[in-house]
Amino acid sequence: MSKLPHIGTSIFTVMSQMATEHQAINLSQGFPNFPIDERLIAILSKLAKENIHQYTSMSGLPSLLDKIAVLTQQSYGRTVSAKEEILITAGATEGIFATIQALVKANEEVIILDPSYDCYEAPILLSNAKPIRVSLNIDFTPNWELISAAANEKNKLIIINNPHNPTGKMWTENDFVQLEKLVEAYPNLLVLSDEVYEYITFEEPHISVHHRPKLWHRSISVSSFGKSFHITGWKIGYVIAPENIMKEIKKVHQFLVFSVSSIAQHVLNDYIDLVDVKALGQFYQQKRDLFRNLIKETKLELLPCEGTYFQVASYANISDENDLNFTKRLVTEFGVATIPISTFYANGNDHQCIRFCFAKDDETLEKAAERLIKL
Ligand code: GLN
Repeated sequence: MSKLPHIGTSIFTVMSQMATEHQAINLSQGFPNFPIDERLIAILSKLAKENIHQYTSMSGLPSLLDKIAVLTQQSYGRTVSAKEEILITAGATEGIFATIQALVKANEEVIILDPSYDCYEAPILLSNAKPIRVSLNIDFTPNWELISAAANEKNKLIIINNPHNPTGKMWTENDFVQLEKLVEAYPNLLVLSDEVYEYITFEEPHISVHHRPKLWHRSISVSSFGKSFHITGWKIGYVIAPENIMKEIKKVHQFLVFSVSSIAQHVLNDYIDLVDVKALGQFYQQKRDLFRNLIKETKLELLPCEGTYFQVASYANISDENDLNFTKRLVTEFGVATIPISTFYANGNDHQCIRFCFAKDDETLEKAAERLIKL
């Protein structure tokens, strides 16, 4: 009966619910717990009284589309057409869903690199297409041998996520060179690049598909205002794709949501002028460093974190339980909710690692560390 028999409730929902139930500190689902920018609240209050509450144009408020084109130019030096190549979506999730539904036909294949974020698989299955899950290397870098072995004429898309949720890893120049070779070898293969954490990067600069002219006519990028402006609940983001591909994505978007929340678009249209997205990395780097310093006092072993607001840690020194049981015990006995990394793998691969979200105020991170020291 079910069209998605193997898909259950997302681990983010499950762990956040457990956190509430056990009054635990919630470092599981990725969302900030600090107040949003006062300037954003002021714009929201002012615009709420104005005549901005009806449908916007299907692909987005024209002035916001223009500003996204300017941001893309400033961030990546790439000129995109606001009218033809940008679509404002109900979060990155809708952008990803609309892209996959628009481009992937029955029996085609989509390469996903595991561990992977959870919203890629369902739209592939709903297209009667086949997800091909390829594991990253043990250090979470792309394994180009495995990717090449999975590549064939039936592949329609390869989904990449950089900076990477859950591991915080970022792609190198060489990874992009390998990707360029792959798309050259397979002329029907397109790249869906999930870059929702594009501005949350630390020591190394982020390399985007927008930096790679060879990929421009073959790539669809996805961004999220939720991550970049600390407003995950607003569910607003955007997709950039070449005109011929975007035309197809818009056909799905038109009947999935038609247009995105007008107030969110109008508010962001004013707010985007005030924000320096380049400051976001530094803002989160302070939180990452604070959290890493606090966790150093525990028996957990920290993995590198190059970008995103997630920190992965190994608990192998503490327990040999599987990661799902360990995270459940962490909530119920220690009052800290986290995410087990095995849930990001199709094969349930368990490295005894858990993910913490450090997009929290300092007090929350300090309290969590006090509890984790008892482990
Ligand atoms: N992206 C968020 C995370 O990784 C979850 C968002 C959601 O719950 N759908 O935690």
